[in-house]
Amino acid sequence: MTIKKVLRMGHPTLRELAKPMSKEEILSDETKELLQDMIDTMEAEGGIGIAAPQIGISKQVTLIAIDSEQTRYEEAESTPLLVIFNPVITTINEELQGFWEGCLSVPGLRGYVQRPKQVRIEYLDQHAKPQVIEPEGFLATVFQHELDHLFGALYIDKISDISKLSYIEEFEQFWLEPQEETPPRE
Ligand code: ZN
Repeated sequence: MTIKKVLRMGHPTLRELAKPMSKEEILSDETKELLQDMIDTMEAEGGIGIAAPQIGISKQVTLIAIDSEQTRYEEAESTPLLVIFNPVITTINEELQGFWEGCLSVPGLRGYVQRPKQVRIEYLDQHAKPQVIEPEGFLATVFQHELDHLFGALYIDKISDISKLSYIEEFEQFWLEPQEETPPRE
């Protein structure tokens, strides 16, 4: 079990286009170790997703795992652990939906981001097998947030109204709807 240091905004690695991985590389012991480090780090930090560049590895792999019990985010449905290599994303429904987002690489802040409602992602799984997923709603936002990390983007780039960018305490005081709880960090 290795919990890695999560790179924070300002680290140039977070702004690089990560490298796609070959099938051999995906199936290698080195990558199994990388995935375990990513899982350990994500769990330790309480995230619902993590991308390799966030722990300093500029390769196209990201994880998503939502435990709806743990995040207590009413929009979040649980997902099994999803391992995504070399994703290609296209938009299915261009209509925008907004969620408050947070990020392990931008600690302490929450920002409201609008993104397309449904996307299609073609990727390779941990067995290097091609997969397709068409998430919608909150999960579509989670995918888009995580995939952005592989292409050098952070959620703060996508905020349409920067005046609402908040520290968590102020977010909870001024922006959180009474029935909601703190959204998960990604
Ligand atoms: Zn993030």
